[in-house]
Amino acid sequence: MPDDLAGRVLAQVSALSAEMIEFLQAITRVPTVNPPGEHYADFAEVCAPYYSRLGYQVERIVAEDHPDHSPRYPRVNLLARREGSAGGPCVHFNGHLDVVPAGEGWMRNPFGGEIADGKLYGRGTADMKAGLAASLYAIEAIHRAGIALPGAVEQSATVDEESGGFAGVAHLAERGYLNASRQQHVVITEPHGVDRVCSGHRGVYWFDVVMHGHIAHGSMPFAGVNAIDRMNIFLNAVNQKIRPKLDALVTKLPVHPEAARRATLNINSIAAGQPIDQRQTPCVPDRCTAVFDRRFLPEESLAEIQREFADLLRETGFPHEVKERMIVMPTFTPIDSPVSSATAASIAAVCGRPAGYTASPGTYDQKHFVRIAKVNDCISYGPGIIDVAHQPDEYVSLDDLETSAKVMALTTLRLMGLHK
Ligand SMILES: [Zn+2]
Repeated sequence: MPDDLAGRVLAQVSALSAEMIEFLQAITRVPTVNPPGEHYADFAEVCAPYYSRLGYQVERIVAEDHPDHSPRYPRVNLLARREGSAGGPCVHFNGHLDVVPAGEGWMRNPFGGEIADGKLYGRGTADMKAGLAASLYAIEAIHRAGIALPGAVEQSATVDEESGGFAGVAHLAERGYLNASRQQHVVITEPHGVDRVCSGHRGVYWFDVVMHGHIAHGSMPFAGVNAIDRMNIFLNAVNQKIRPKLDALVTKLPVHPEAARRATLNINSIAAGQPIDQRQTPCVPDRCTAVFDRRFLPEESLAEIQREFADLLRETGFPHEVKERMIVMPTFTPIDSPVSSATAASIAAVCGRPAGYTASPGTYDQKHFVRIAKVNDCISYGPGIIDVAHQPDEYVSLDDLETSAKVMALTTLRLMGLHK
């Protein structure tokens, strides 16, 4: 049961609902589509005044040296900070401002911010502009209830999460804006449902295999060595010797959906021979490249995974190279950590049922908070359901928006020692 102080805050969240929705509509209408990273500066123009009006000092942090930054597509991050009244801990809320392209099949305007049947529609509403709105108004509700927070609260709206977060959270962490001495608790407001704490994600091993052959006239293939045939032999070996083992590996992490509790492998692309959209001349392809996306579990060893592929490649006896593209280690914050237990207790109080736990099949910006900024007390919690993310007619339920803001408000009170 909420005590008087918590009750006052929850009432203020409800009272702020219309303002929170208006903010969410305003930021949904900025089409921050990634790729290529459109309208990030426009987003900052729209969003920053809300932060300022609500008492935050706002910094625009532009990742100018990042390869995706350009005058046409600037990488503009926002970091807003509201100081506390005493030396309490800093609670940091982070959300990414980029959205994936709208794609086909919409019945609504993807950037209209339309409301119907208690839902706010738009690309990026669930993933994850609703999270940006919920955390901002959660804190505003505490202030409007007349409560002075002892510690600082920060809100960051960062770029490029959908493409790895390197000009966003990673950039802020590398430049010292995010680090364990500055932020004690972090909530990334990705959409996992209002009653679930997301503790982390699986690991990623992305790599290219380049198989070499020997070029010859296509009318005399016997005079050359076809690199596609060699890749085909290797792929068959992968399917026979590696895939069955992956299906047998199951993590203890509560990954949602459940099928992603197993290790997985996707062949992301394959390229060989002459470009397919050009006129062809008869040649035996001497090079075939395949991109592998191996998602691994915390129970697995990356070194062993790498060795397994290397051994299988060696067994083929074909000349080849392996090029690593991206490695992300699995991340998991224990459920008894301060931010995780405070969020779980707040979910139970607001939703009237115990919190569930989940972990993400793919990675998100938690990796940068943990690996670069070294903030270990980091989870993801936010409104919206992951099932509608990246889909046509993406939406967030307005009830969920308000509920999650209530949970974030109580979580902040708990982390600041104002509520048990
Ligand atoms: Zn997201």
